Formats: sequence, structure tokens, C-alpha cells
Amino acid sequence: MTNKDLANIIFPDIDKSIEYYENLYPKRNLNEKCAVTRFAPSPTGFMHIGNFQSAVIDYVLARNTNGVFYLRNEDTDSKREIEGAMNVIFDTLKNYDMVPDEYEFNGKVVGNYGPYIQSERKEIYHTFIKYLIEIGRAYPCFCTKEELDEMRKVQESSKRRIGYYGRYAVCRRLNIDEAIEKIKSGIPYVIRFKSEGDFDNKIHFEDEVRGRISIPENDQDIVIMKSSNKLPTYHFAHFVDDYLMRTTHVVRGEEWLPSVPIHLELFKTFNAVPPKYIHTPLILKKDGDTIRKISKRKDPEASMSYYKEKGYPKEALIESLMTIINSNYEQWHTANPEKSYLDFEFSAKKMSSTGGALYDIEKLNNISKNYISKLKAIDVYNGVLEWSKEYDLEFYNILSNNKDYSISIFNIEREQKKPRKDYAAFSEVKSLVWYMYDELFDKEEKNYEFSNITDKDEILRIMKTYIEKYYDEADEQQTWFEKIKDLSKELGYAREVKEYKANPDNYKGHVGDISMVIRVALTTKAMTPNLYDIMKLFGRDRILKRIEELEKNF
Ligand code: GLU
Repeated sequence: MTNKDLANIIFPDIDKSIEYYENLYPKRNLNEKCAVTRFAPSPTGFMHIGNFQSAVIDYVLARNTNGVFYLRNEDTDSKREIEGAMNVIFDTLKNYDMVPDEYEFNGKVVGNYGPYIQSERKEIYHTFIKYLIEIGRAYPCFCTKEELDEMRKVQESSKRRIGYYGRYAVCRRLNIDEAIEKIKSGIPYVIRFKSEGDFDNKIHFEDEVRGRISIPENDQDIVIMKSSNKLPTYHFAHFVDDYLMRTTHVVRGEEWLPSVPIHLELFKTFNAVPPKYIHTPLILKKDGDTIRKISKRKDPEASMSYYKEKGYPKEALIESLMTIINSNYEQWHTANPEKSYLDFEFSAKKMSSTGGALYDIEKLNNISKNYISKLKAIDVYNGVLEWSKEYDLEFYNILSNNKDYSISIFNIEREQKKPRKDYAAFSEVKSLVWYMYDELFDKEEKNYEFSNITDKDEILRIMKTYIEKYYDEADEQQTWFEKIKDLSKELGYAREVKEYKANPDNYKGHVGDISMVIRVALTTKAMTPNLYDIMKLFGRDRILKRIEELEKNF
């Protein structure tokens, strides 16, 4: 029996050739400079921020070069697969305006290089594996888990390299007849690649981030087809898919860097040109005094769902990632505040190559506060509305029923040279403006934050004198403030802070104390946006109601 017989016994139905697929998926008709990138997540139901970072790079690279960005569903590990996981992935890309140029989703296929779902590509993988068996570069391996565990123990105790290579590659030496017999008798097997590498030789390759890298050649006979579902392993699928989909740049986590020798050997075996590799740094976080890898189990911010639930604007999140992706991004962005991140020219050389990139939520908060502060009130309104529609229906209804009023609230201290920066995420808005809505104010347990003046009679005297003698709905801001000064004087407080400071014994306090009483009496809060604007939005009747409410709480 020959290798060909073995190949036919394993894959009796495979009748296509590698050339057939090479012709079906020809080299893309694109200019040399165009990058073809792919986002290739496994459908685990969890979108890690590190994966998303890779997708951002893929997307930027494709847009920078007028290339192609496609999505590939890497679902070969059926055990890890979660129902609906592809929705999470696709929706995240959509939410961030990163819809791929080619993809397969909900039965719809866009693009000529599909199927884009690995489990639908079995026939293609089998064609490539069949060829390897025919030429003697792949073989079935019948080693059981127990045998492999035993082998590992022996290697560990004799301090040898772990793995299936050289003299440990037992099934490599099975003769074809023996192998066929085992297959016919139903013994389960995997298919392994027969490596020709020599661990004592080094290969050299160019990592786009780290430059020239030299590592030992691969000599492991890695598994290329699993026994359970006959699907390929990551390594083999990476080669077949990125070769046939004509990927030019593979952007993936740096945990794959040590596997490059395997991948290069596979590309070489098929005479195919390997893609360029961009290995992204791990995302790190500060935890007390230490810096550690962001953890899927411990850190909610490891998941992209966190940013959605918090309601960070997509632009802010992308900006925060771009600042850790390329060291010169922040400077570029400051110089080009109006430009989109897609106008920035990504450079792999400007990525961190020292094992990690520090991601800081405080930094994201600052970026986001800055971003939201520059939005128009209507855009803030729409942002909060969209967030609350999913996460806070009560607030959603209030916002929908009070559109103009809400926009006026968000307009306070906005659209000016130094706009107010108080919202880092749309989920924070309600907790900062609730007192502006009677529906929320009425039902809330009130905690009045009075500070310098706390005497109840004095507070009520201030409020009543103010409303009866000084408050006029129609006043401009300047007159309004003059009147608060007049009120201060009448009640024994200094009209100016400096007057008070010069002669503190002459006064009960100063105009600032009086303003604070009015602010807290109307909102319960010691810190609010401009009080004049707030009062303008309230109007006399609601102000009177707030004073009544205050009396009730005393
Ligand atoms: N499915 C692999 C992962 O999620 C993809 C790595 C790659 O992009 O090649 O880790």
C-alpha cells in the first residue's frame, strides 16, 4: 500500500485538488500596497478587549491602504462554542462602525473568498491534508491521551523538550499497512504534520512590530486534524485560510509569536508566501502597585460588553485603544482634533514590543469626558437616549417625554471655549442630572448637602426672603447675581467674598454661602452646573415647589 492509498482511505470523498482552490480564490486584484486583513475570533460569547484591539488595527490598516478587512469565524473548537456568540462579535463591530467588507453572518455571505466560517470549510482543509498524506508529509497518529501524558512525564523527568518530535514521534514510524489496519479497525486517530525542521537550526523572520526575530525551527509533528470533529487545529486552519483568502497581514495576540516557526513551515511546504505578522502586545492594567495582564475572570473591563453597559462613546473607546496601539497617536490626535482615527497612518513599528501595553480606565475616562464635552447637546441627548433604551427604561421614558427640556439641560456650559467635562459615560448622566426632573426628584430619598449654613430656620429665611423680594424669572444672569448679593447684604452676609475675608467678624458669612444655600435647597447637591441656568430651566413655580419640598424634609 502507498501513501496515496492511505490518503484515499482517510478521505474517500475528497476529489478536488489544491490548484482547484487556488484558482477558485485567486490572488486578489489589488494594488501591492493594499492590506488584506482579517478579524478571526473564536465564537466563545466573550469579546476580549485585546481581540478588539487587533480588530481595530486590522480595520485601520485596511482603510489606510484601501484594502480589505474581512471577518472569519474560527469555530473549530465546538466545545467552546456558545450559541449567539457570532451576534456578539458582529454587533460589536457594527456598533463601532467597523462592519467588515467580507463576512458571513446569519446566512448572508458577502465576498468571494468564503465560506468565512471554518466549520463550513472542512472539504477545503481535507483537500490540503489529503495532499500532505499523499506526499508523505502527514500521517495518522493513534497515540492515546494516556500515552501522550506518559510521554510528557518522561520528557519532563529527563528534562527534555516537551512534545511530539524526533524519536518521540512514534506514529511517524508506523508503516502504511499498519496504519491502514488500525483505521479500518476503527481506532481513533488525529492527523499530524511531518515536520522536516531541525530544532538546532534557527529561522529568521521579520515580525512587523519587533523586527528581525531568530528562533529555532519547528520540529514538532503538530496535530493538523482533530479526531473528534475532523476539523483542523488553529495552526493548520490559519495556514489554509490566510493563504486562500489572500491575507497580507495577520494581526493577532503576541501569544502566537512562538508558533510562527510552525506556520512558516506550513507555508513553505505548500510553496506559499506567508503573510506579514503583527503580534499585538498583551493588554496590561495597574492593580495597586503591580502591573499585570488584564484578566477575563477578574476584570470586568477585559470584556467589550463592559464599555457598552457603561455607555462609553465608541469614539472615546477607540481613541483610548489607539493611544496604546501607536505611541505617536496621541500627539497626532492633539494636532488633528477634527480628524477621524482612520486618517491616522498606523505603523506596526510604533507598537509596544516589550511584552505589554498598559490600558488605563482613568485615561479612558479623561478621553471620554473630553470627547463628550465637545459634543452638541442634541448628540449627548441621543447618546444617553440610546444607552438608556437598553439599560434604564425609566430614564429612557423621561428623556423621550422631555426632549427639548433635556437638551437644554445638556446644553448648560456646553458649546463654549471650555465646556464642562462631567460625563465620562452615558450611564453616569442620570446620577448627575436626576434632580432636574421632578419625576426623579420627587421619588428620591433626599440628602441635602448643606455645608457652611446648616441652621434650618436660617436656610428657610434665606430662601423665603429671596423668593419674595429678589427672585425674578426674567432676570439676566448678571442682574440675577446682583440680587443674590443684595439678598446677602440684607441678611447680614458680605456681598463679596473679599469683603468678608477682610472683616470676618462683621458678617455671618458671604455671598458664596448664600448661593450655596440656594443651590442645595433646589437640587440637594453642593456641586451642580451653573445655578442660573438651572433656575432658568426650573422657573418660578417649580422653584416654589422645591422650597416646599425642602420644608417638608426639615
Ligand atoms: N481564533 C484565534 C483567536 O481567537 C485567532 C488568532 C488569529 O487572529 O490568528 O485567538
